[in-house]
Amino acid sequence: MEIVPGLHQIRTPMNTPGLSYVMPYVFEDGDGVTLFDAGYGTNEATAAMTDALAELGHRPADIRRLIVSHAHPDHLGMAGWVKEQAPDSELIMLEREWQWIRHRWLDFQHWEDQSNAWLIRHGIAKSEVEAADRAGAIGLGGALSSPRGLKRLIGSAIGRLRNGNPDRHWRRSFRMDIEPDRVLQDGEILEFGDFVLQAVWTPGHTPGHLCVYEPNHRLMLTGDHVLPRITPNVSMHIDDEEGGRSPLAEYMDSLAKTARFDARCGLPAHEWDIEDLPGRCNELIQHHEERLEEVRLGIGDGAATASDVSGRVHWNTRPFEEFSIWQKRSALGETLSHLEVLRDQGRVRRFDDDKTRWECV
Ligand SMILES: [Zn+2]
Repeated sequence: MEIVPGLHQIRTPMNTPGLSYVMPYVFEDGDGVTLFDAGYGTNEATAAMTDALAELGHRPADIRRLIVSHAHPDHLGMAGWVKEQAPDSELIMLEREWQWIRHRWLDFQHWEDQSNAWLIRHGIAKSEVEAADRAGAIGLGGALSSPRGLKRLIGSAIGRLRNGNPDRHWRRSFRMDIEPDRVLQDGEILEFGDFVLQAVWTPGHTPGHLCVYEPNHRLMLTGDHVLPRITPNVSMHIDDEEGGRSPLAEYMDSLAKTARFDARCGLPAHEWDIEDLPGRCNELIQHHEERLEEVRLGIGDGAATASDVSGRVHWNTRPFEEFSIWQKRSALGETLSHLEVLRDQGRVRRFDDDKTRWECV
């Protein structure tokens, strides 16, 4: 679909329940193209990219730049393939996102192992974490340290391949050896062809999430920061806790920042166009204000862990107890991002002994 002359919205497939495609954007500039987001690195997704470019009269080798909104595999996963097709193309992201990738994803094993202890500290039963670990659903902690562990690791890898564990999709489609050719700072301008793109740092969904604003056409490409129907996941994980980040506070500031641009339309990476971008930003702020109160009430009269609270608040998909451990980690991270803002506001207190617990003030 042509948004304005020379800017096209295309689709590449993904398999997440409720989200069947990613929407990369193709900017044409004379003899080449610039992409904003790409998609997974799967064969189906790269074939869809090749077809979409062909319809516009281009080849993958014509890609000159791939700008990514953030380092999740449905946005960045195709970067390795792009580099193979167009070796001189530039992979571009915000510097803050690159710092985050290096910290979390390049040593994902370490993060995942620590993350298991973190789940237990926040109230998930140790037996559940250990059972999931044995089944290969989360961390492979210690697997390489003994012959039995190694056997288990191989067994679980085969199990994952057979069962089509979503985790597998994530890992296999995410090239860890990518490195940006260029990193941007907030507010930096990229100019090519008839387009001027202003980098807009919008932390929250990830620490270095990037939106781009095109002032000539008053368009904001929003990545996963603002979506028209669903609320992006804003989670606090162990590295955020250690680094003193408050992802939800960052996210709400980023929404207010996005709403201040005079955009006539928001172009997200999923679902469909956002007609009233400031209106949608304010709706999301409102949603989180309400969720803050729901989370506070979820603490109840005594002290509660983040897992207790997660079990008492509403989730659109299923009750928390029925989530897989992978989903629980993400949901727990959401609850914690709200608890952290409540703490900042002086509405709740946090206690750390054998577990981390929260109490209303
Ligand atoms: Zn996404």
